[in-house]
Amino acid sequence: MTAQTTPAGLRRNLDGSHRKMFIGGEWVDALSGETFETRNPATGAVLATIPASGKADIDRAVAAARAAFEGPWSRFKPYERQVLLLKIADLFEKHWDELSLSDTLDMGMPIIRTRANRNRVVGMLRFYAGQATALHGETIDNSLPGEIMSYTRKEAVGVVGAIIPWNAPTAASIWKIGPALATGCTIVLKPSEEAPLTPLLIAELMAEAGVPAGVVNVVTGDGRSAGAPLASHPDVDKIVFTGSTATGQSIIQASAGNLKRVSLELGGKSPVIVCEDADLDRAVPLAAMAVFANSGQICIAGSRLFVARKIHDEFVQRLGAFAKALRIGDGVNPETEIGPLISDKQLRRVTGYLEKGVAEGAALVTGGGRPGAGGLSAGHFVEPTVFANVTDAMTIAREEIFGPVISAMAFDTLEEAVKRANDTPYGLAAGVFTRDLASAHRLSNALRAGSVWVNTYHAIDQSVPFGGYKMSGYGREGGVEHLHEYLNTKGVFLKID
Ligand code: NAD
Repeated sequence: MTAQTTPAGLRRNLDGSHRKMFIGGEWVDALSGETFETRNPATGAVLATIPASGKADIDRAVAAARAAFEGPWSRFKPYERQVLLLKIADLFEKHWDELSLSDTLDMGMPIIRTRANRNRVVGMLRFYAGQATALHGETIDNSLPGEIMSYTRKEAVGVVGAIIPWNAPTAASIWKIGPALATGCTIVLKPSEEAPLTPLLIAELMAEAGVPAGVVNVVTGDGRSAGAPLASHPDVDKIVFTGSTATGQSIIQASAGNLKRVSLELGGKSPVIVCEDADLDRAVPLAAMAVFANSGQICIAGSRLFVARKIHDEFVQRLGAFAKALRIGDGVNPETEIGPLISDKQLRRVTGYLEKGVAEGAALVTGGGRPGAGGLSAGHFVEPTVFANVTDAMTIAREEIFGPVISAMAFDTLEEAVKRANDTPYGLAAGVFTRDLASAHRLSNALRAGSVWVNTYHAIDQSVPFGGYKMSGYGREGGVEHLHEYLNTKGVFLKID
């Protein structure tokens, strides 16, 4: 297997050499000495070998986070946490090229996209910084006899275990670390075994910013050996998890031992409804990229496309042409619009769905296989694919594919479109394209999803809560609600007569 040539601008070699993980302010190996490889999904090259943690390493990281929570960190004033977060935001801005390149190499997202995420991530950090000094309890009048004052305090929940997937390592890490720092929690972050490199780079930036030892720990390893012991750890107060619905269910079970608080950002099968009056010049590229962005490896992928029957054929034809013209390749090339899937396992999973789509009778409009040309055979590439004549019952219309696959379906009335759009166990996101204000409101009210985008898609902002309905999870990230996921509310009664 080839090793990666380290591109300029990265502080660590990505030539297959060994990296350590970050516990209690120190760079350490797994106690077992075990390691695993992380590879570039575009080329198959080994980027680094990484510690493969087990339960003993999780114990060590949780102990470090507990000691930090009870140590000097507990005396950091909100303003001090704010200053720290602002410093981290500045460092992220300064090192953004390196962070985005690291994400591109480790998980394949085209560099044009990873670079473009800068304002979103830095904005999140500055939002959390602002919130650090804005959190407060309330004084509440009570009806008790005598003179008793009552008020609430907002207190950090404690040690947070964060488990994230591989499809957006920088943003997912910051959506967990940011609120932990703003509220005064400490955190043990376990990145995905498929893309651990950027979270380790983020640990370096945390140390550089002066985050005290043990406040942010990054522990590498797979779900079974490292994730599960974190989820069941008796000294972890809260788990924040982003990943698949099946893993989310096992996390809830694992968390039962000490009834730790859990928030879950899970999978989706998001509908996009294109009304008869939609502006097609706008809707076609947005509906396409609602799925093809990051090769469909995005929880909010708008993979079920409902198109008004009158415009269905034209829309599907234009969508197919758009998909066919997308440039597939190694994400480090700034021309690339579609990068690889993360792994061979994911490639097999997605091609399995492509075969099922054909076998169950969907009409292949474009794509449907692996790109043959351009020296892409070493990577896990799949063509952007559009299926038409899909029925609601087909597997490709029901299951989360996590690949670049659109299932297009025609509808006759808006009521029917809503009913079919909501007929899914998931409820993460939905899209609507219309020029009619009443339809825009009616549909966004009726769709059972945590985010609805009208005449746009993928809009995510640090100030606006994001999260799921139904089996897409519970809890919110973004907005003030996000911070409250990391806080306990204490009621205090003080007798003054
Ligand atoms: P996954 O559930 O397989 O893995 C996610 C993380 O959980 C990884 O770090 C993994 O090591 C860990 N893990 C696996 N099994 C575990 C266990 N038993 N106990 C504890 N941890 C365990 O998901 P994935 O394949 O990495 O990511 C894809 C999924 O994530 C998709 O379903 C996607 O929709 C979802 N996702 C959701 C959001 C969101 O915000 N809702 C965002 C991104 C991805």
